[in-house]
Amino acid sequence: MRCGECNAKIRPPSELEAVVMRCNYCGHEQPVPDLAQRRAAIAERERLALEKQKHAHSSRERDLDRREARRSRRWTWVISLLSMLIAPVIISITIFDLPARLGFGSSGAGRLEQIQAQLASTGCTVLEPLDSEWTDGNVSRLINVDHQCIRALAAGGGGHHTLGLKLFGADGKQLAEVTDTIDPQLAYCSKTKQVLRYEIAVSPASKGRLSHLVLACPK
Ligand SMILES: [Zn+2]
Repeated sequence: MRCGECNAKIRPPSELEAVVMRCNYCGHEQPVPDLAQRRAAIAERERLALEKQKHAHSSRERDLDRREARRSRRWTWVISLLSMLIAPVIISITIFDLPARLGFGSSGAGRLEQIQAQLASTGCTVLEPLDSEWTDGNVSRLINVDHQCIRALAAGGGGHHTLGLKLFGADGKQLAEVTDTIDPQLAYCSKTKQVLRYEIAVSPASKGRLSHLVLACPK
């Protein structure tokens, strides 16, 4: 490239934005010869910069999305773990009646204690002490009796609305019976020393805690 004035050898400026070039010898200014290419190069450079920026933006967006997805996955995991833990708790409470089996909740013992106190005032004494247990079926107990009158009592907690009581002799014969009531009481006077068996009848499909007690009472 040569200067149009002094014909000295000059080099076009390296920066793309330059539109004129100046001669170092005479100071003559003339347009750069490759203006169109320079403009194209500038446009290309801007296009690339814009693309790069767009790319950075979308990758940042993708990063956020990924982080959010990870967070929601973590939440899903926590929730499924919780439900996995909650399910057995619900099942153990509703189906296996676990709290009652472990001894929580009413067993009817409070009512039996009151009845025992009432009967003690009439001279009754304890033959078999108050006992509570969880059951979903009939309860059977043996009692040793002398020539005396006895009273067997039963009471249920929330799981048992009504209970029945039956008393059997050693020969298997039924000696007394009280059909389903809330707090059944059964009285029997034995003429000899013998072993009797009493059975607490639980209503079908009932389950829960119940209490029982046997007293010896004056005739
Ligand atoms: Zn020149």
